[in-house]
Amino acid sequence: MKRTQSQDLFRQALKQIPGGVNSPVRACKSVGSEPLFIDRAVGCFIYDADGNRYIDYVGSWGPMILGHRHAAVIQAVREVLERGTSFGAPTDLEVELAARIIEAVPSVEMVRMVNSGTEAVMSAIRLARGFTGRDGILKFDGCYHGHADALLVEAGSGVATLGIPGSPGVPQSVAAHTLSLPYNDPQRFRDAMRQHGDTIACVIVEPVAGNMGLVSPRPGFLETLREETEKAGSLLIFDEVMTGFRVAYGGAQSLYGITPDLTTFGKIIGGGMPVGAYGGKRDIMEHIAPQGPVYQAGTLSGNPMAMAAGIATLKEIRHAGFYDALEEKSKRLAEGLEKAAAGAGISVTIDRVGSMMGMFFNSGPVTCFSEAKASDTALFGRYYNGMLEKGIYLAPSQFEALFVSSAHNVEHIDETIRAAEEVMAALKSESG
Ligand SMILES: *Cc1c(COP(=O)(O)O)cnc(C)c1O
Repeated sequence: MKRTQSQDLFRQALKQIPGGVNSPVRACKSVGSEPLFIDRAVGCFIYDADGNRYIDYVGSWGPMILGHRHAAVIQAVREVLERGTSFGAPTDLEVELAARIIEAVPSVEMVRMVNSGTEAVMSAIRLARGFTGRDGILKFDGCYHGHADALLVEAGSGVATLGIPGSPGVPQSVAAHTLSLPYNDPQRFRDAMRQHGDTIACVIVEPVAGNMGLVSPRPGFLETLREETEKAGSLLIFDEVMTGFRVAYGGAQSLYGITPDLTTFGKIIGGGMPVGAYGGKRDIMEHIAPQGPVYQAGTLSGNPMAMAAGIATLKEIRHAGFYDALEEKSKRLAEGLEKAAAGAGISVTIDRVGSMMGMFFNSGPVTCFSEAKASDTALFGRYYNGMLEKGIYLAPSQFEALFVSSAHNVEHIDETIRAAEEVMAALKSESG
């Protein structure tokens, strides 16, 4: 496959943009390759600057649950565009998106819009601290909650991919307030809460961890978080930036039947536009300025185009049967990939919740970050590049999730499985 346009653009970008990219994992360093520069996308297909077509399982890292350029989303944005791009004043669109989020997620009684998942999490943490009068934060190894200082401790996603423990530039005094524990270990969590509970403002978790590959919560884990935070007077924050409207219309909390105090959103609620949101119980949310003393603001927050894309997306995915159809196709893909690996005698561990899944090159089980890190990342890199050559666009890291959209049909799924069978067989014979 010819990639000269992408290669040329990357050479230029490297001179002007650190690493040539505006977000680290896009650089494809960990898989020993270079980024594709994208020209356009439609449905489940993405086209690079050289005109190559790929079946896309990145979905802009989660938002594109309807696939690219869904007609209803494009139409909604077009209509708003005729009214203006930003007013810095309230619009009907903010009220409508807020209402839709509140209707979908019962634990959310009030919601505030921001511009990214990072901003949503950062704001929710400030609110939790302001509300409780405590400074401590408890998170879990391998969970990624955006790049705010306090959360860059044992974080997932690009931090995991690049193998950096935290980040220079995060003051020790800030990181000192963050405790990070192994995911899926209720006993360690209980012990930590017994020791530090009265200093912990909030416990934040990805209810399905999607930034260390995909690791689902083991039975009892989320329940323990709920029980212990309640006992300690700490807030429980579900970071549903990835899982919100992805694993179910009501998010992971509806799937597992847990009611957090605060929830953060992003990705899908923006329908491909920059949006984040945080919400929760009314008595907590009323602490946000101007109603309360906890300050948080944004010039472009509630941006009309972003709200319109979000509303249009939520309208589409609310249709009966939407998630069932997605489940069926995702299951087909997961089973096909598992068979492809087994057929080639390669050990993989696949975990999946609805249309998000991960495949570790690791005989498993994978229930936490340290087990995820034991994967054969070199083998993943060869798999990634092999799939790319066959027109399948995956996230360029062992520690990222794969997303199926409603635009993927059975033929696309089967084409992907056939590609995986060929690539796996080739990997096996090379390593012979
Ligand atoms: C993507 C993600 C974030 C960060 O969102 P951005 O929009 O990239 O700032 C935070 N938390 C989780 C769980 C995410 O998946």
